[in-house]
Amino acid sequence: MSFPICATCGTQFAESVSPPAACPICEDERQYVGWSGQIWTNHEALSAKYKLHLDEEARLLTIGLEPAFAINQRALYLPTDAGNILWECLSLVTPEAVAAIKARGGLDYIVISHPHFYASMVEWSEALGGVPILLHEADKAWVLRPSPHIRFWSGDEYKLSDTVTLIRCGGHFDGSTALHWKRGREGGALFPGDALQVVMDRRHVTFMYSYPNYIPMRPGDVRHIQSRMQGYEFTDLFGFSARRNIIGGAREAVDRSFDRYFKAIAE
Ligand SMILES: [Zn+2]
Ligand SMILES: [Zn+2]
Repeated sequence: MSFPICATCGTQFAESVSPPAACPICEDERQYVGWSGQIWTNHEALSAKYKLHLDEEARLLTIGLEPAFAINQRALYLPTDAGNILWECLSLVTPEAVAAIKARGGLDYIVISHPHFYASMVEWSEALGGVPILLHEADKAWVLRPSPHIRFWSGDEYKLSDTVTLIRCGGHFDGSTALHWKRGREGGALFPGDALQVVMDRRHVTFMYSYPNYIPMRPGDVRHIQSRMQGYEFTDLFGFSARRNIIGGAREAVDRSFDRYFKAIAE
């Protein structure tokens, strides 16, 4: 089996004759090993069993696996003035998805919030002609399929243009990143991965070190995210999975959520 993919987290590994003994992402306390033990698959097996579902949410193209696979995140296609960005990544890439992206003008960057969504990022980059993948260097150790297409950025902020900024939030992972896009009359949009997690009421976000294992985020890390978010205006916030969005009033919702979090943990 070449380029094994972990069936629980969806991460693709470097080429190997036999799959690794364990998946470090799943063995980490932020994730979990599947209840049937470590299971490996690969891109070929996924393409036989899954399709990519292309949809539109709040006028943005979204892409996800169908049926649901692993953490089940979605990717979003952002046509910005910094270039066309694929925000987050998936374990499967298909010729149909590549054609749909090419029809919209191709891809200039793949940007990923944190290691849980690295997925098959190199496969995606190569399928679209070697697209640069931007990752925060603090999470370098979690790259399990290295590639010359990966570019690490450092510091707390990385401006791709006057309207697109990558913001290092930390907390969930040291390099956990949100993308802020200052759109025109539609108002700004925030793409925080799960550094700020849109909750089920879709009117708040929350902050956890581990979502599946319910390990709360340290209050100091939440304070840090709060200060990192200062000065960014946004109307809409797009969460990690399909339809998990706050459309309209998202900045106020985030402010309310910080208050709610600190009130909830107060003595
Ligand atoms: Zn895994
Ligand atoms: Zn995560």
